[in-house]
Amino acid sequence: MPNYDYIIIGAGAAGLLLADALGKDEFFASKSILVLDKDNKTQNDRTWCFWEQGKGSFDDLVHKTWDSIYVGGQQLQKSTSIAPYTYKMLRGIDFYNHFLPKVKTYPNITWIQEEVTDMQEKENEVLVTTPSQIYTGKKVFTSLYDASIPAKQKEFPVLQQHFFGWQLKTDQSVFNPGEATFMDFSVPQKGNTRFMYVLPISETEALVEYTLFSEHLLEKTEYEESIKMYIEEKYNDTQYTIQETEFGSIPMTCYPFHQHNTNRVFHIGIAGGWAKPSTGYTFYNTSQQVPKLVSHLKAGKPLSEFHQRSRFMFYDMLLLDILYENNHLGHEIFESMFKRRKASLILKFLENETNLWEELKIVTAPKPMPFISALFKRLF
Ligand SMILES: Cc1cc2nc3c(=O)[nH]c(=O)nc-3n(C[C@H](O)[C@H](O)[C@H](O)COP(=O)(O)OP(=O)(O)OC[C@H]3O[C@@H](n4cnc5c(N)ncnc54)[C@H](O)[C@@H]3O)c2cc1C
Repeated sequence: MPNYDYIIIGAGAAGLLLADALGKDEFFASKSILVLDKDNKTQNDRTWCFWEQGKGSFDDLVHKTWDSIYVGGQQLQKSTSIAPYTYKMLRGIDFYNHFLPKVKTYPNITWIQEEVTDMQEKENEVLVTTPSQIYTGKKVFTSLYDASIPAKQKEFPVLQQHFFGWQLKTDQSVFNPGEATFMDFSVPQKGNTRFMYVLPISETEALVEYTLFSEHLLEKTEYEESIKMYIEEKYNDTQYTIQETEFGSIPMTCYPFHQHNTNRVFHIGIAGGWAKPSTGYTFYNTSQQVPKLVSHLKAGKPLSEFHQRSRFMFYDMLLLDILYENNHLGHEIFESMFKRRKASLILKFLENETNLWEELKIVTAPKPMPFISALFKRLF
């Protein structure tokens, strides 16, 4: 059985960032590291967006940036600057093409394209099984997400941020490449929280996505019909061709995924609960968690202790409780926040960076009753 100090399962956002962080750090030069993924990572299977202030570590890979956003709804049409933030788009393929070859060059890292079919933690090692081999690792970092785990419990509701999108090329110049449509709730809500998300690359190219924060996925045709209708109405029925499609379903839950970590098996990325429960944004947080995890390893601390509690989890929990019970309230909550407060403050809040005074401003923007009621239900 081939033995490794560390095995990283999954070379996606979290796996590749962790492999790179370990590979370039002299501290881990004597550690043998195996990276396993079932996929060769040659497809542009997703587009990551995130916001940050000023320059960032992915800037050389970033495909497009926006300094202002549009938020629309039943009663709101707001174009606004997000300074000091910039909204940045990173294509999956550019990320994989940069990080995978880099990771492969580290002498202590072995990359193997194989599917993991089983993982068993023993007293002194972890057995990782693929169709052709059983590998042993002293520690395993896994990005395999098992949706049945949060589904088994009732304490923390589980919604999905699910979306289907088309990368379009239009005949006419219809998009404003200077502004990303962050949330447009003007689409029929049908009892849910539904919005359009538009990322224009040029006047004739954009990624247009139909997005929901809700419990159940839709039939593919419903996402497609909704995008078609939006383009007809919003962009004067312009003709277009579809260049790429994208689908995603990201868990939105405050379920404490970290409780499944042991000192040998540690969950990273979505599997580790690194997705922001109230929005599904995961990428930027992953890029922030990885260096913290590396420092934790270097300090020799037990992996099961890597977890930070934060009051933001409580805000997320209240919002999810509301959306789980009354999914149709989402548009009202987000619209009133963006109507009454600066977009940059909301982004700061969603990044878990605000202070208590700023949080008070945010939580008093929407109608208070649903939050008070959710708070009472949680407390009692
Ligand atoms: C289409 C899409 C768009 C998204 N857009 C955004 C966004 O704009 N902003 C944002 O913050 N977040 C976004 N997310 C959410 C999140 O950032 C991504 O899902 C991110 O890729 C999660 O990183 P991860 O490492 O947890 O999982 P992944 O990046 O999905 O990596 C998991 C890896 O595990 C591999 N794998 C799976 N099963 C096995 C197996 N059995 N054996 C071996 N390997 C296996 C997969 O091939 C994959 O490479 C998006 C997600 C999707 C799906």
